[in-house]
Amino acid sequence: MQAILPPAMLGILGGGQLGRMFVTAAKRMGYRVTVLDPDAQAPAAEFADVHLCAAYNDAEALRTLAASCAAITTEFENVNADAMRELAKTTRVSPSGDCVAIAQDRIAEKAWVNKAGLPTAPYLAIESVEDIQVELAPYLPGILKTARLGYDGKGQVRVNSADEARAAYANLGGQACVLEKMLDLKLEVSAIVTRVSPEQLSVFPVAENIHKNGILDESIVPARIAPALAAQAQQMARQLAEALDYVGVLAVEFFVLADDSLVINEIAPRPHNSGHYTIDACVSDQYQQQVRAMCGLLPGRTDLLSPVVMVNLLGDVWQADGGEPNWNVLMEAPNAHLHLYGKKHARPGRKMGHYTVLATDVDAALEQARALKETL
Ligand code: ADP
Ligand code: MG
Repeated sequence: MQAILPPAMLGILGGGQLGRMFVTAAKRMGYRVTVLDPDAQAPAAEFADVHLCAAYNDAEALRTLAASCAAITTEFENVNADAMRELAKTTRVSPSGDCVAIAQDRIAEKAWVNKAGLPTAPYLAIESVEDIQVELAPYLPGILKTARLGYDGKGQVRVNSADEARAAYANLGGQACVLEKMLDLKLEVSAIVTRVSPEQLSVFPVAENIHKNGILDESIVPARIAPALAAQAQQMARQLAEALDYVGVLAVEFFVLADDSLVINEIAPRPHNSGHYTIDACVSDQYQQQVRAMCGLLPGRTDLLSPVVMVNLLGDVWQADGGEPNWNVLMEAPNAHLHLYGKKHARPGRKMGHYTVLATDVDAALEQARALKETL
């Protein structure tokens, strides 16, 4: 396939922070970018050449996108997969609508992971009320998760008994769900793979992820796991990307269990919060990889240049009156990098920015990253 070169126009569905970092990477490489996002203040719009401010399924906006862009990608997994399939009739689209459809539905996602020969937590797919009238013991205690539209721990209920599970399912309005056994997690890690075509893929170093209230709080790279286990996670991410015939950047979240076995938690058909560290700490970053993959260029090198810790900045850190955190100490630290997403209104739980700290080892980076958080 012919490579798409600068200054071609690239299109992206979604203009949140992932889109903003994509636009930044693409513009630095000399491409132009059109963003489709219904929010007039979308974080990516500030840097985009063109902002189509319209709904994701707006036929006119999609036609404009298809007609004006050499290739189209997404930063947002809840885009309409059919819209992506439609765009693909005339324009190069990656990842495919089919892959996005799999990632946006936990039932399809887990079935695909298992079909690729990879492990998930024991789960029960619940598409209608009959499906939950079975023996639930293998999945208890468990977490009931809506099959669609969940993120940052939203749409999830922890349940301890069959009665609780059935009540929680009814409470969620009878929408499709999975009941997943609660596993005893030693750690959580993620691996982000870029695939351009068969055998042409590369994987970033594995990140160790610490969540707070269901939202990613810190990523530590390299993950504090045995190198062989990290290599296994990378291999599983590659295997999954091959099985899906995936083109683009694919993030794979894993659980590490007490016996050091790996289970795939979920996948995201796009760059991932746990890969923000690549901007400051890798030869190529995940957004450059997204550009490269959609343009049919080989993935860039993913070598880690320094141990790094990434800390998410949620709206909670902002003052109640909307006042900025105290950036002084963070900004004065020569080995720290602040990234803000340009969001006007801070709300608790809203991802406003992140920072990274680079140091000679992850323990030093983590200690400093946490101390810096205290100064904000
Ligand atoms: P989201 O789409 O909101 O990120 P996840 O399925 O990744 O949803 O769940 C969010 C977090 O909840 C996980 O990162 C993990 O900490 C915890 N979690 C989810 N499923 C399980 C499970 N089966 N066992 C133990 N912890 C879980
Ligand atoms: Mg998750």
